[in-house]
Amino acid sequence: MIDKSIIIIGAGFGGLSAGIYAQMNGYHTQIFEMHNLPGGLCTAWKHKGYTIDGCIHWLVGSSPKSGMYRYWEEVGIAQGREFVNAEEFMRYEGSDGRTFTLFTNVDKLEKHLLEFSPQDAKATCQFIQGIRLCLAFDQPSESDPLLKRLQKKLKLGLLLATKGRKMQEWMRITTGEFVKRFQDPVIRGALREMWLPEFSMFFMLFTFAFLHNQNAGYPIGGSLPMSLAMAKRDLNRGGSIHYDSRVIKILVEGNKAIGVRLADGSEHFAGRVISAADGYTTIFKMLDEKYADEETKERYAKWPTFPSLLFVGLGVNRSFANEPQSVSGLSFPLRQPTEIGDEVRDRLSVHIFNQDPTLAPVGKTSLVVMMPSSYEYWKELAPDRTAYEVKKDQVGHTVIDLLNQRFPGISQQVEMVDVATPLTFERYTGNWKGCFEGWLITPQNSVSLLKPMRQTLPGVQNFYMCGQWVEPGGGLPSSLMSARRLVRALCKEDGGKFRTIVELDATRS
Ligand SMILES: Cc1cc2nc3c(=O)[nH]c(=O)nc-3n(C[C@H](O)[C@H](O)[C@H](O)COP(=O)(O)OP(=O)(O)OC[C@H]3O[C@@H](n4cnc5c(N)ncnc54)[C@H](O)[C@@H]3O)c2cc1C
Repeated sequence: MIDKSIIIIGAGFGGLSAGIYAQMNGYHTQIFEMHNLPGGLCTAWKHKGYTIDGCIHWLVGSSPKSGMYRYWEEVGIAQGREFVNAEEFMRYEGSDGRTFTLFTNVDKLEKHLLEFSPQDAKATCQFIQGIRLCLAFDQPSESDPLLKRLQKKLKLGLLLATKGRKMQEWMRITTGEFVKRFQDPVIRGALREMWLPEFSMFFMLFTFAFLHNQNAGYPIGGSLPMSLAMAKRDLNRGGSIHYDSRVIKILVEGNKAIGVRLADGSEHFAGRVISAADGYTTIFKMLDEKYADEETKERYAKWPTFPSLLFVGLGVNRSFANEPQSVSGLSFPLRQPTEIGDEVRDRLSVHIFNQDPTLAPVGKTSLVVMMPSSYEYWKELAPDRTAYEVKKDQVGHTVIDLLNQRFPGISQQVEMVDVATPLTFERYTGNWKGCFEGWLITPQNSVSLLKPMRQTLPGVQNFYMCGQWVEPGGGLPSSLMSARRLVRALCKEDGGKFRTIVELDATRS
């Protein structure tokens, strides 16, 4: 008799997806979540009447034409949700007074690049050709009807046969390297601002392809309603979620995972344990490093992660109706380099959520200013609680003053300011060093896209992992897909057929 009970650690997108797919396939799941809400990093919080969205800029798979959309339907977040596709990814104001716009439409982007910097025609051509190469890519999903899946497989096979080498070339170049092909400093600055320099270029091209295909939209309502909808889907399918339940140990007997111990001392048992929580904590703390082989240790020692963030949410009594709607915001130069938190910075990037009226009272707007910040800096500061709070306050005031350079009068209109440091992200989600999206995809680890990362650890049975720490590149789609891949593998292990259901009447939560 197969034991079909599963304990899942963490109710982020990875854990919730694991719960939903496992329930769909006849397993009995319990999720233990340390926070009092579902969603993990995909969250938002309210302050003085404003919603500060802590996550979503774009959701890949938002177009009903894409294979990924069906997955969002399966977990219950696509139904009834409105997605906005902005015309601009980002506006970058140069220190020489010129403004370069990263348009989401590839033809418009090409025209703008050529007009903006004719001397960069060659680099522009390579860049645009790269995006067009990715436009043709539509991964077959096993939820497509058979004929459509076969057609997609054939198309993909043809694409890989004819363009596979070119794709590999793009995988091997980092964004930092490619950007140097452009002469114009404003274009260089914009591309550097958009993407991390270590990241494989292929994924920047893919992002533009998704944006062009209107397949990376912003969901009205933002992050938390999506997480709540997934939690609701899990509960409706018969799963249970225990909040305020921090797992401190994964219990192993012999060589088998048998359950978990919570911070309150209680122990809970199941046939399988899946950790969808932070990878480092899972491997090095919950499992006491016992199953960390050399490959795993090396990964945690050497692979670069997404940076930690200094994150400032602002509520402003101003409509910003005349500012363009964009996926990622506006970056502008400062009059003079200014210390913000741990670094002296020469520009500020602000995301104006003027596309989503649900985040602020009528006529007002929710804004977010984000910048990479050193985890170690804040960790060292934190034992002196007063110094830490003073520094956070300074960050808030400085950001408001700097915004006033670009939007005169705004300092009088700010009604709410809320500063989160890398320690805030760590405290609320448990992510290693407050990292916001797991591993970067670099030319070195991009091979993992062809051969997915292992979801088990050597030496321990009945234990599995899913979520952003086993999917380089991270992001919401990856967390879902890793959970889906895992549950499919479990069904196979148990001799069953993996099945999924779309409930069309699912309503927004
Ligand atoms: C500012 C920002 C912007 C982003 N923008 C986008 C975007 O536009 N598009 C996109 O696709 N992605 C975006 N992301 C990334 C995306 O949010 C993450 O990659 C994704 O949410 C990761 O989901 P996960 O389930 O793998 O991990 P997490 O969300 O980290 O979930 C892990 C869960 O485990 C819980 N947990 C941890 N430890 C324990 C424990 N000991 N016991 C019990 N529970 C525990 C945590 O509380 C959490 O709920 C963004 C992230 C941030 C922060």
